[in-house]
Amino acid sequence: MADPKDWFTAGLEHIWLPYAQMRTLPAPVAIARTEGSRLYLADGRELVDGVGSWWTSIHGYNRPELLDAARDQMAKMPHIMLGGLAHEPAYRLATRLAEITPGDLSRVFFTESGSVAVEVAMKIAIQYFRNTAGVTRTKFVSFLGGYHGDTLATMSVCDPDEGMHHMFRGALAEQYVVALPETRDQIRALETLLSTDKKIAAVMIEPLIQGAGGMRMHSPQVLKTLRRLCDQAGVLLIFDEIFTGFGRTGEMFAAARAGVTPDIMCLGKAITGGITPLAATLASSKVYAAFHSENPDHALMHGPTYTGHALACAVANAGLDLFADGSLIKRVKKLEASLTSALAPAKDMDSVVDVRVLGAVAAVELADPFPIEAARKWFIDEGTFIRPLGRTVYLSPAYGISDDDLARLTGAILKFAKTGISDIG
Ligand SMILES: *Cc1c(COP(=O)(O)O)cnc(C)c1O
Repeated sequence: MADPKDWFTAGLEHIWLPYAQMRTLPAPVAIARTEGSRLYLADGRELVDGVGSWWTSIHGYNRPELLDAARDQMAKMPHIMLGGLAHEPAYRLATRLAEITPGDLSRVFFTESGSVAVEVAMKIAIQYFRNTAGVTRTKFVSFLGGYHGDTLATMSVCDPDEGMHHMFRGALAEQYVVALPETRDQIRALETLLSTDKKIAAVMIEPLIQGAGGMRMHSPQVLKTLRRLCDQAGVLLIFDEIFTGFGRTGEMFAAARAGVTPDIMCLGKAITGGITPLAATLASSKVYAAFHSENPDHALMHGPTYTGHALACAVANAGLDLFADGSLIKRVKKLEASLTSALAPAKDMDSVVDVRVLGAVAAVELADPFPIEAARKWFIDEGTFIRPLGRTVYLSPAYGISDDDLARLTGAILKFAKTGISDIG
């Protein structure tokens, strides 16, 4: 790599970074290369990665099987458009996703980002009612603590506080963002809402774990309740599995772990193991049937330039191969046990209000707020890359992380929780 002084300092004057106040942002850490669960810094240090590049890197970095698949596809045919042309990686991946997802989710629409996969799910839901009943249903129900993306339509279904509703008021559609149906009153309130407003097309949820909202977890019963209420009201149920998909919860999909099948499912993030952008929206046979007719107006009106990107789909297929023998899912279940026991001491700390573990996700929620940038830097000084969300310090490691590396991550979190925030800021 070139001397970081050449590209870093110059680039920092021109790059516009995500969610960042560029003026006060501490300088990002320049990374020279990656391997497994390690980030190698340009200055020679190395970090154990607890985040996995926004939760995508489930197989670890530079996994040879994925790199080979990318190289082979790159040499043959990096991409051709799906309009009028066909290529094997996308068709094969669609077939495989239909096979491995629960229920009869059987039609797959490819996009390049999770937000767009959610937008497509919303368009499918709206058009479903227009095509089947000729009615206009354009409203969505989603949940407090939820996150579904950063585009205008997906922002409207994010948690209004954690999302950016206040900044974009007037530009966002008004949706119902309500409490999860956990108590009897909450269930009744949702039931009433769904039966009262006939403009509601679908209910959308991140099943089992609300990721960006702070790794909040709920019981499978919530999803069973949603399935029942949606069926009763004739409303579609959308699972946004962009974070939970591909083994994260200890089953291939959270839907499978909960035993509940949605009408529409969104996938992204780990689908390519973090190598290339790719996302997908899956529809059940029932939903798809509403689009399958002689009427051109019944067709799904969406078509990203890079839909079904061949290189991305080839990598995704190689990623699915890694799941084939079942050992990866076993490994996640083992990780769940290791994370649970390693973080158990946090439960007894006064500074900690909650410890949550599911599959390859662990979250330690602290009682008091802390300066987040100082905390991020503290973790780097501990040889780890850990990025707290609000008061929650979490891990979403690669499934194959070594015991030693995992111990470094959990050890850093315990030390952080115990040391006390005042010593850090
Ligand atoms: C990350 C995420 C998204 C958005 O995906 P992008 O690829 O960042 O657009 C949507 N939903 C959930 C649950 C996510 O975790």
